[in-house]
Amino acid sequence: MKILLATQNQGKVKELQELLADAQIEVLSLQDIPNWEEVEETGSTFAENAALKAHVAAERTGYIALADDSGLEVDALNGAPGVYSARYAGEPKDDERNNDKLINALEKFPDEERTGRFRCALVIATPDGQEFLTEGTVEGRILHAPRGQEGFGYDPLFFIPDFGRTMAELTMIQKNKISHRAQAFQRAIPILKDLVKNI
Ligand code: IMP
Repeated sequence: MKILLATQNQGKVKELQELLADAQIEVLSLQDIPNWEEVEETGSTFAENAALKAHVAAERTGYIALADDSGLEVDALNGAPGVYSARYAGEPKDDERNNDKLINALEKFPDEERTGRFRCALVIATPDGQEFLTEGTVEGRILHAPRGQEGFGYDPLFFIPDFGRTMAELTMIQKNKISHRAQAFQRAIPILKDLVKNI
């Protein structure tokens, strides 16, 4: 049985494939779909964007399709950068400029007001239009300066009190156990196994 994870990111494919190791489900990515045309992310929430991508992918290919959308929500910034996380500092997408912009935007806020979370929405869509949503979040606090070399995006600024480290100070193995994406993927596994069983 094959399913499609609507991403070009092979790291995400590997993560999902490992969670499905005992399920005889093969995870394809958009690299396996010839002439894939990107779907515009026009939603105002992570769940809307994930649903958009998942439904288009399922309709176009006939596979059960999954799509995730994620980002950082900062409470003092009313949830920004949110769905604009990747391009917070404008085009082209640049992690370092995004982090600089975030540091500046939070300059005047004391530590206790620098709370936020990584959020991931994952939607499973079937070719006949069914939809299932799972989510994951990691709560943390935005630092004044980056710490750590691992990960990507906002990881070096995102301090997780439960670990006493930033996301960029965790190993990839540790991050993949606790991340917002890992939680959403793990919650999707029983749904996927059920769907595949009933086909
Ligand atoms: P995407 O949903 O994977 O495309 O992520 C969108 C953007 O959110 C990324 O470009 C990052 O800026 C941010 N982001 C999502 N997940 C993470 C993470 O695990 N660490 C750091 N930044 C993240």
